[in-house]
Amino acid sequence: MRGLTTHMVRVVPRGEYMLTLKAQGVLIEGSLEELREELYLTRRAVQYIVDCLWELDKLPTINQAHQMFYRMLRQQGFRAHQAKQIYKYALTIVKSARENNGGKPLLKKLTVRLDEYDARVDLENQLIIVKLRNRVFKIKLLHRREYTEKFVGRKWYEVIISIDRQRRIWISIPFRWGYDPYRPRSIISIDTNLRKIVIYDGGRIRRIDTRFTEALKLKHLAECVQKRHGYAWRRNRKWLDIIRALHGRGSNIVIDWCRKFAKYIVLKARKTRSAIVLELLGKLWFNSSQKSPSLADKLSRFAYRRLQLAIITKAMEYNVPIVFVNPRDTSSTCPRCGAKLEYIHRLAVCRKCGFIADRDTVGAVNIYLKALKTLAPCLGSRGTHPMTDETRAKGGTQKDEPMTTHTHSYTNI
Ligand SMILES: [Zn+2]
Repeated sequence: MRGLTTHMVRVVPRGEYMLTLKAQGVLIEGSLEELREELYLTRRAVQYIVDCLWELDKLPTINQAHQMFYRMLRQQGFRAHQAKQIYKYALTIVKSARENNGGKPLLKKLTVRLDEYDARVDLENQLIIVKLRNRVFKIKLLHRREYTEKFVGRKWYEVIISIDRQRRIWISIPFRWGYDPYRPRSIISIDTNLRKIVIYDGGRIRRIDTRFTEALKLKHLAECVQKRHGYAWRRNRKWLDIIRALHGRGSNIVIDWCRKFAKYIVLKARKTRSAIVLELLGKLWFNSSQKSPSLADKLSRFAYRRLQLAIITKAMEYNVPIVFVNPRDTSSTCPRCGAKLEYIHRLAVCRKCGFIADRDTVGAVNIYLKALKTLAPCLGSRGTHPMTDETRAKGGTQKDEPMTTHTHSYTNI
């Protein structure tokens, strides 16, 4: 898989990555009030250091920061390694705020980060034991064993504990993860829009309804509430909560759906030893579409990002190869003869060879073909051009399955 990177196709390389275990937790030793207090004190300490650093023209090195803050933190009862984590973290956020020309960082979340000296991770029993100042907390992870088991025996970097508005405890632990993708025998390409995901494997087109429009409806609703109440909603606790809840539910739908779809597609790819091919929507795409303030565009950007991220994360877990192609011309070129397509609404027509298909099909097939050009040498006999293949050309796109057949077929896995 290595060495396939050209300006058109980019392969996610094998190597060491980080995969984060995320789970809700419940206290089995120590009280929530005490834990909240510890997280609150930590946040206050980090914010204090951020405020100090913000006044300086030149940021101190780690060693200098140690000289400046370590004693003070120890006097407040923080354990040696947590003190180190606190000034290191403060330094990182000030650095990144300055690099992005942002304002002074203001910490809102109740979070604490601990290293191996103050935290113990016992995945066999799904337990996290942490020491904060002179208190010990034991937290049970509420997640399927099947999920946590994947991380057993791997090296972890830190334990991050947070408490959210609903007073729920969340644990995330980044683990070191070796990604070693197999050599693909075939390709699965994916084209996305807000309503549908179109998948093409060289033989069949499959369409799956997304739940993104459902999320969009909730966010529209939130916007309606905002508009109806002018600026008053900002000061009204009740409306603020409603708006926040609608936005949150919308985002959760997207995140959950992306995760489900990622699992479905990655397992499917692994079964057929396929590489997954996606459009590389780079900075430019996100920046240029950022100009559009419409809710649908905002949600698209959010959804595409989450989808990419979810697929890459799952693929790393299962060593499935991931390939990105340049999205240029994927919906305007005829996949059969390469001529420019004409569009009648969403229907693409090729005047030269008579090819007819809907926009999404064209996208998925062209993404497939772009990857095929580069991957063909590794694929062997299966890497033939599906559109010039005799049997395929006769059937054309009439073999496409009706839209509803496979809708939500992924939900039962
Ligand atoms: Zn054509």
